[in-house]
Amino acid sequence: MGSIPEQMSNERVWEIIGQFGDAARRAKEAGADGVEVHGAHGYMIAQFMSTHSNKRFDEFGGDFNGRMKFPQEIFKDIRSKVGDDFTMTFRFSYDEKVHGGRTLEESLSVAKMAEEYTADALHVSMMTYASMQYMSPTPAMPAGFNQFQTKFIKDTVDIPVISVGRYDPHSGENALSNNCADFIAFGRSSIADPDLPNKVKENRLSEIIPCIGCTQSCIGYIFVGKSTSCLINPLTGNELKYPMDKVEDPKKVLVVGSGPAGLEAALVAGQKGHDVTVVEKDAQFGGQFRLASIPPTKHEIATALKYYVSVGQKNGVKYVTDTEVTKEYVEQFAPDTVILATGGVPSKLPINGVDNDMVVDALDILDGNVTPGGNVLVIGGG
Ligand code: SF4
Repeated sequence: MGSIPEQMSNERVWEIIGQFGDAARRAKEAGADGVEVHGAHGYMIAQFMSTHSNKRFDEFGGDFNGRMKFPQEIFKDIRSKVGDDFTMTFRFSYDEKVHGGRTLEESLSVAKMAEEYTADALHVSMMTYASMQYMSPTPAMPAGFNQFQTKFIKDTVDIPVISVGRYDPHSGENALSNNCADFIAFGRSSIADPDLPNKVKENRLSEIIPCIGCTQSCIGYIFVGKSTSCLINPLTGNELKYPMDKVEDPKKVLVVGSGPAGLEAALVAGQKGHDVTVVEKDAQFGGQFRLASIPPTKHEIATALKYYVSVGQKNGVKYVTDTEVTKEYVEQFAPDTVILATGGVPSKLPINGVDNDMVVDALDILDGNVTPGGNVLVIGGG
């Protein structure tokens, strides 16, 4: 994260151990049901536990027992301040995915250690900040990719085990029925749709706002100093700013263009009770967003488009394709409001010859309008 770590004095280590216990006590006093001790992802506890980062040779370093002393003392301090009748779970990475870091083999011993030191459940994740691609994995990682490694942990201990990692309702159900975990944690999926568990329970799977794994507005926003939201669910983090109450005087709304902006605007207007029609000039919905779903591993973008339209239809939104909106169309339609959502226009390289027939746009290839062949030069690596 751009800062150079330094080794803490032994005195400072003991001071911080006490602060973990103090924090748990305050959480209990504030009415929390429990705390999770975060020993995953390269945070401080993980740094002490890891052969990758712990180069101490005092009581908090060296062999396995030395490296585990920091979490052990934290567990003891927390228990001494909150008692036994308060949930304390422990989160750790079963594989740090860094050279010289902990792998599953030693993580089985970590799991047993945490159980012995009174953890009530284990929350099994992976990676450190040096292997970030595994913490918020891209859609190229399959749903529930951690489940079988988590099973090794589950078979090692007698306390409940929580598994996390790009689960969807189906892969989560599989992990539970294959006895890979006792609980499934939904991270970004909960940011996209906080009602996900209830919708699964009520068998409303098609109404789940899908997380497409883009990481743009959740984690991406945090790293540029903004508060968390979601690319597919802009209400996340803005719940009070945009109340979703039904309107008293519905309007006739015409949405021009069916990219994500137009589809989301139409969906929200429909949910609020307006009479909404989306008009798209192409034969299919989605605009450039649809084309973005075509390369391998990008299929989840299409699930977002399906969500917009299927939930929009349930809210009365009408969708029209193959129709170009003209002045006459608007006059005849007579809307109260027109939402212009025709999207962006791809930029053209300012070089001689760019209008030559042999120069084609990537979007035309994705859409199947052009089949490239022969000696091909690709300009741009996005
Ligand atoms: S911005 Fe939303 S859709 Fe994208 S990864 Fe984050 S939660 Fe998922």
